[in-house]
Amino acid sequence: MEKKEFKAESKRLLDLMINSIYTNKEIFLRELISNASDAIDKIYYKTLKDENLQFNKDDYYINIVSDKENRILKVIDTGIGMTKEELEDNLGTIAKSGSLAFKNENEIKDGYDIIGQFGVGFYAAFMVADTVTVISKALGSEEAYKWESNGADGYTIENCTKDSVGTEIILKIKENTEDENYDEYLEESTLKNIIKKYSDFIRYPIKMFVTKTKLKEGTENEYEEYKEEETINSMVPIWRKNKNELTEEDYNNFYLEKHYGFDNPVKHIHISAEGIIRYNAILFIPERIPFDYYTKEYEKGLGLYSNGVLIMDKCPDLLPDYFSFVKGMVDSEDLSLNISREMLQQDRQLKLIAKNIKNKIKSELLDLLKKDREKYEKFYESFGRQLKYGVYSDFGTNKDVLQDLLMFYSSKEKKLVTLDEYVSRMTEEQKYIYYASGESNERIEKLPQTDLLKDKGFEILYFTDDIDEFAIKMLMSYKDKEFKSVSSGDLGIEEKDNENNKDSKDNANKELFVSMKELLSGKVKDVRESKRLKNHPVCLANDGEISIEMEKILNSMPNNQDIKADKVLEVNANHDIFKVLKDAYENDKDKLKLYTELLYNQALLIEGLPIEDPVEFTNNMCKIMK
Ligand code: ADP
Ligand code: MG
Repeated sequence: MEKKEFKAESKRLLDLMINSIYTNKEIFLRELISNASDAIDKIYYKTLKDENLQFNKDDYYINIVSDKENRILKVIDTGIGMTKEELEDNLGTIAKSGSLAFKNENEIKDGYDIIGQFGVGFYAAFMVADTVTVISKALGSEEAYKWESNGADGYTIENCTKDSVGTEIILKIKENTEDENYDEYLEESTLKNIIKKYSDFIRYPIKMFVTKTKLKEGTENEYEEYKEEETINSMVPIWRKNKNELTEEDYNNFYLEKHYGFDNPVKHIHISAEGIIRYNAILFIPERIPFDYYTKEYEKGLGLYSNGVLIMDKCPDLLPDYFSFVKGMVDSEDLSLNISREMLQQDRQLKLIAKNIKNKIKSELLDLLKKDREKYEKFYESFGRQLKYGVYSDFGTNKDVLQDLLMFYSSKEKKLVTLDEYVSRMTEEQKYIYYASGESNERIEKLPQTDLLKDKGFEILYFTDDIDEFAIKMLMSYKDKEFKSVSSGDLGIEEKDNENNKDSKDNANKELFVSMKELLSGKVKDVRESKRLKNHPVCLANDGEISIEMEKILNSMPNNQDIKADKVLEVNANHDIFKVLKDAYENDKDKLKLYTELLYNQALLIEGLPIEDPVEFTNNMCKIMK
């Protein structure tokens, strides 16, 4: 028998192929199954054109047979087969794709089903096999041929017998090495997993004998093993089905089957896009945070399929970070893949799909907010934080996408409200969107800084997440209304106070405040009369960009830079305590020092800030009790 050389620089090319194109050895099976599916598709196309031929669905399938003992794995199909010339051309020439030629000859424009295009996938078999044998009988041919190769030094072709039309790929699986366990490619469970992972949506049944156990006849607790043929793949991808025929349960099953999560998603999104780029997508908004969501291990991304074959498990480029909780997959026939079919050639199409998907997720979330508030709030409880991070990160680039999805607890409604709802309730008198930061709603509720605003009937948003104030600083305004902290120096409320003696009174008070500031020796930037207090004698306010709440958060981070907010001690001039202060100022400077320090510490406590010297504070308390 004559041995033929691979054409062109095939030897080196084959070596390259086997050792460097693929990152994952297991994809050899994906490639062989894809070829088998293409071969059946070709028969199908032939029958479409030829009235004398019939396509009887039951006759077309792919068989996977594993023989552990002899280290043989077979991929058998009932497809179109190959003639001697085709074996030479397609398997003897690397980078020659009979499938691509078929697609062109038959003018299959949308190429919906035919997967092959590069003419290299077949050689992936050499990643796991020492010898690859192909026995094939072409449609309309009487003869069958056997092609055989053990890799780089060429191949042989000879006549052989085969009863039916189709192709058998026979792999002699390699012996285990130190770094690679080839045995697993003969293992039933591994094979099943690989088929499920990559080829679940191949349109023809992929059959395999699997081991099962049953009760031994005539016994009550003795079991015996038996083999039964099973179809491993689910064949029809849910995203190609008509939306109207699918129930909520179908989607939920798909969610569970693909291990997207253990919860019931709050919403599914089914996209069938036509137009510049065609793709189908099924996306899910989970209800609960995955246990690893805030760890480094969590990988965002959507499954990416090309013609129903998995290309990438989690394609990160399909989702922006702020929607990293979305699960699901995208299938497109319009992707240009690179030669390993593990990656994309160029990402123009991918960018387009990603943009569409982003917009769709946003509009569906808004829709949920409008139509099913309860569900939206459930979702928001889990992932609202992520949305707020999205507003804050990338210098606020995405704030327009996200601002309408935000919710905060409202002093008025006592529940979560949107910014739009807040703004639509604002009266003409109110110029700002007010917010207060603190550890919990209960604590914020009691903040003395909110007294005046509440008195005026202004709604206040409660910020209890670390990220809230940072996100809002990035947002700056919503519908032209700026945000204002209840602790900020100027609340932007016009005064009606027009008493004649105001100036002289102010001056008298000013001296008291100056001396209080001196007594606090640098701890506050200023001491001044408060316009926001009603029932409390003092509170802290802040000047400048960094709020007291932000100071707390920044300083709790590792490598904090000891950033300080500019604190102002505000004194309620209408409070009884103020009279006591004035009296002390005029008659007893020691007392003034004692009271000033006590009041300052009280203001710190209300803010949830630590007192600098607790011992001194308690000593002072005792002093006044005596
Ligand atoms: P591609 O699938 O990208 O064309 P492959 O290297 O996987 O490249 O296969 C090369 C060619 O060999 C295919 O295009 C097809 O013409 C032929 N071929 C491979 N496997 C089979 C098969 N099981 N049945 C019929 N033809 C096959
Ligand atoms: Mg192929």
